[in-house]
Amino acid sequence: MTAYDDQNIFAKILRGEIPNVTVYEDDDTLCFMDIMPRTDGHCLVIPKTPCRNVLDANDAQLAAVMSTVRKVANAAKTAFGADGVTLQQFNEAAGGQEVFHLHFHIHPRHEGVSMRPAGTMGDMDAIKAHAEAIRAAL
Ligand code: AMP
Repeated sequence: MTAYDDQNIFAKILRGEIPNVTVYEDDDTLCFMDIMPRTDGHCLVIPKTPCRNVLDANDAQLAAVMSTVRKVANAAKTAFGADGVTLQQFNEAAGGQEVFHLHFHIHPRHEGVSMRPAGTMGDMDAIKAHAEAIRAAL
């Protein structure tokens, strides 16, 4: 397996070299807003320690990340009055992964509403307001 590259963009976020809109943080994990949101409330949960994805993550990293995913997913569902939540997680380029630091996507979902296409920058004021709504529900 390819080695972890500490120049990936989420490693830079963890080191404070790139800004992020934080939703939740604890000793082991960080949750922040995706800047190209495919749903209102689209956010990402990452471990604070290095691993590329699920394939090389250790049990402690996975346990910590999943605990935060559950916490934030429930808050996001409440914040947006959602009917459900979609989790996405990609492993290696062939699996759809673009940033090689383990992350889970959290998407609040409403009946009959499709996710938007990937790759369009979001409106930062809206993203910040969505983060605040999730934080308020935590
Ligand atoms: P993937 O590796 O396919 O799960 O996709 C990486 C995700 O990271 C995409 O949804 C991007 O919109 C998101 N992303 C990339 N750069 C940033 C950033 N600086 N802050 C927040 N989200 C980002």
